Amino acid sequence: MKTDSFALRHLGPRETDIAAMLDTIGVESLEQLIDETIPSDIRLKNPLELEHIMTEYEYANHIRILGRTNKVFKSYIGLGYNPTIVPPAIQRNVFENPGWYTAYTPYQAEIAQGRLEAILNFQTTVIELTGMEIANASLLDESTAAAEAMSLLYDVRSRDQKKNNICKFFVSEEILPQTLSVLQTRSAPIGIELVVGNHQEFEFSNDFFGVILQYPGKYGQVYDYADFIKKANANEIKVAVAADILSLVKLTPPGEMGAAVVVGTTQRFGIPMGYGGPHAAYFATKDEYKRSMPGRIIGVSQDADGNRALRMALQTREQHIKREKATSNICTAQVLLSVMAGMYAVYHGPEGLRYIADKVHSSAVTLADALNKLGVYQINTAYFDTIVVKADALKVRAVAEKNEINFFYIDSETISISLNETTLVEDLNQIIAVFAEAVGKETVTISEYISEENFPTNLIRTSEFLTHEVFNKHHSETSLMRYIKKLERKDLSLNHSMIALGSCTMKLNAAAEMLPLSMPYWNTIHPFAPLDQVQGYTKMLKKLEQQLNVITGFAGTTLQPNSGAQGEYAGLMAIRAYHLSRGDDQRKICLIPASAHGTNPASAAMAGMKIIVTKTMENGNIDVEDVREKALQYKDQLSCLMVTYPSTHGVFESAIREITKIIHENGGLVYMDGANMNAQVGLTNPATIGADVCHLNLHKTFAIPHGGGGPGVGPICVNEKLVPFLPSNPFVNVGGEQAITAISGAPYGSALVCLISYGYICMLGTEGITNATQYAILNANYMKARLEAHYPVLYSGEKGRAAHEMILDCRGFKTKGIEVSDIAKRLMDYGFHAPTVSFPVAGTLMIEPTESENVEELDRFCDAMIAIRKEIEEADIEEPNNVLKNAPHTLNMLTADTWNLPYSREKAAYPLDYVTDNKFWPSVRRIDETYGDRNLVCSCAPIEAYMEN
Ligand SMILES: *Cc1c(COP(=O)(O)O)cnc(C)c1O
Repeated sequence: MKTDSFALRHLGPRETDIAAMLDTIGVESLEQLIDETIPSDIRLKNPLELEHIMTEYEYANHIRILGRTNKVFKSYIGLGYNPTIVPPAIQRNVFENPGWYTAYTPYQAEIAQGRLEAILNFQTTVIELTGMEIANASLLDESTAAAEAMSLLYDVRSRDQKKNNICKFFVSEEILPQTLSVLQTRSAPIGIELVVGNHQEFEFSNDFFGVILQYPGKYGQVYDYADFIKKANANEIKVAVAADILSLVKLTPPGEMGAAVVVGTTQRFGIPMGYGGPHAAYFATKDEYKRSMPGRIIGVSQDADGNRALRMALQTREQHIKREKATSNICTAQVLLSVMAGMYAVYHGPEGLRYIADKVHSSAVTLADALNKLGVYQINTAYFDTIVVKADALKVRAVAEKNEINFFYIDSETISISLNETTLVEDLNQIIAVFAEAVGKETVTISEYISEENFPTNLIRTSEFLTHEVFNKHHSETSLMRYIKKLERKDLSLNHSMIALGSCTMKLNAAAEMLPLSMPYWNTIHPFAPLDQVQGYTKMLKKLEQQLNVITGFAGTTLQPNSGAQGEYAGLMAIRAYHLSRGDDQRKICLIPASAHGTNPASAAMAGMKIIVTKTMENGNIDVEDVREKALQYKDQLSCLMVTYPSTHGVFESAIREITKIIHENGGLVYMDGANMNAQVGLTNPATIGADVCHLNLHKTFAIPHGGGGPGVGPICVNEKLVPFLPSNPFVNVGGEQAITAISGAPYGSALVCLISYGYICMLGTEGITNATQYAILNANYMKARLEAHYPVLYSGEKGRAAHEMILDCRGFKTKGIEVSDIAKRLMDYGFHAPTVSFPVAGTLMIEPTESENVEELDRFCDAMIAIRKEIEEADIEEPNNVLKNAPHTLNMLTADTWNLPYSREKAAYPLDYVTDNKFWPSVRRIDETYGDRNLVCSCAPIEAYMEN
């Protein structure tokens, strides 16, 4: 046996366990199990053609050598991405810490109080710096956040009689070019008409519902927008502002000027540029728009004892509830990065942020002054961190690149220079020397910063920010380290126990895959750096695209979408472009099975499609006759079908090829939701089932960690028909020949974390990656075999097999007064995170073990579920004071002097032997969801402050 094989590390089941597991399932061999699970007509005939397998050590060498072919130049490009200093204490204790990066989205709030508090810090930072009333827990990037702002304003306009039919949106020409591109993509299908122009010439005419401005402008000019916003508001035109978060430390925040929405990126709060991402975007608005706000919001509530407890608020806004009425499809966002940005604010505090912002501004002022002395004139009349100079761009560029420096060349005689937190006096001297050489003059040397403000006094920020204790306390590393640890201990992550979340695929995120993210050759590259400086990245990304083409059987891939839902949207937009290119403007109907994930209808609505829901049969399968009938009925308007495969019920439906054929015969294309790809890789693929496009959740099947709810990467893979329509970027040449405009701001989306999936595939190789799928199916069917005597299992394949996940029906326990949520909470007492609750069927649990769990862990989880089943049996609807209803039990309860419950403390907290050995204590009791929604608080100001008014 090759004991250095990565597959041994990634796969849970040991060779020696497999016979017994197969025996429990009741099959002779793994082959027999797979044959009984996946329909024979869609099985791949040949092994995947992936390159040779690397060991962990070989991969580390490979990625280091490849990394060196990226050139790390000093970046003064700006345009929304800036070099930043990741505080080492945050890098080590959060970014590189599986306690933080392997956590799931905090749906089970009682075991997620740590990251909920960290995100509350992020929201508070955003609210206070922007001067707004409410902020969300992050969005995918600045450009999509700007598009979400446009959608929100479009949505709320209908509350106003006069604006009901208005669809014009004004975009300042100062907007970042990549944001303009995303706005173009997002506006067209829903009927918003973009008008781009100079805001100083805007007429405030009645046929606009909203405006977006950039603050400071794309090349650094700072405008005073106060009068503009006042006039716009007087004309009932609502204003969104895309603002640089660091500049708001010094500049009057848009909230104080009357903006309705403020968005931007928090990348420069200690998050590496990473060739474009991942970074947390922020979104802040007014309280009155909270129900239209996209993404997750963390809010304060209380637990069963009335103690303060946090949880996700106002979830009825989200796509999974609103479906085709949703105005946003955000599901995965950028939680890990928002935790880091929030910690950056905690670590630096208001004083530290002021110091950083002052230094950045002084650098710009000092540089402008020195260049002036060389006769290189600066033309921004007011600026924060970016100056624009007039010089011969060709000459400057030649000297700059020789000195490993990147500026942004606006045109042949105009250059912008963006300064940042990392800029030192010696860097300024180097820049000055570059210009001196280019213009043929003697250089001037500076030795200190000029500290004066180079913007109008009425734009100087006067309001306080970050006054809460948390931002003024943890400024030593010891204190920060302990604060981070204190929060981490409250959260259950994969480094404690398995998180068997159906549809979410919480598998191992191997250290060997994660390590390269900390290497400067990979994480300090600007996304718009010249191509000859990013050979390593280009090679890695092209190879990953190629690997994904092989795995899906498709012809082309884009890595641009930053989540699965963004992938859905990108795929549907490519389908839309395909129909439009053929003159089929009327093809707008999208068929979606009733059991689909909420993002499917939400994405289709955003792509301007009309959704027709198709029926599900009693056995959970798609009703083929209903699909046929509807495809025929709408055959002239049919755009596509969206289908999840294996289905959201965890079943390989054998009629899939017939279903895709029906759609094609009626002129439509097939979109496959690839969230369940973990059951397909190496055994079947989307091309074989007849799909035309699919997204992959690299943060599910391809080992990118969930990070507590993000980052994500949602590439789409497409067949030849759709390759020409893959999305573009205004700076970097990506996308097809008839490319649609951008889906995300960066050309390759979250390029940095693509390294993880690349490593996963390189190290597993053809055999390992196919084994992963087989073991995922093995583990699921083993659990099914152990649990089905205790819980009804809803739906399975024709031969009685689950795919990689299964649904346990808990609706029958209502006669005992027990809800599915009681089981979810009781699992915490046993040291487990609940499986997926109430998706895709209300009142059920969906379990997906993944291939990374070994049989001991599967057994512990099954033992817990079986023990809980006995507790359900003992429950009595007349006596709700029981161990399930009171779950989870905290250490405070257990150690209190009084204990009045009708069961023992031991039963409450140590129900099985294994728990004693590795107890996880939930930090709060059951949380009251509705209390928090009725009293919405989503910043960390003390709750008393809100109770007073
Ligand atoms: C996770 C998931 C999605 C959404 O993906 P995100 O990355 O969270 O946006 C869509 N469909 C299904 C079936 C999923 O499980």
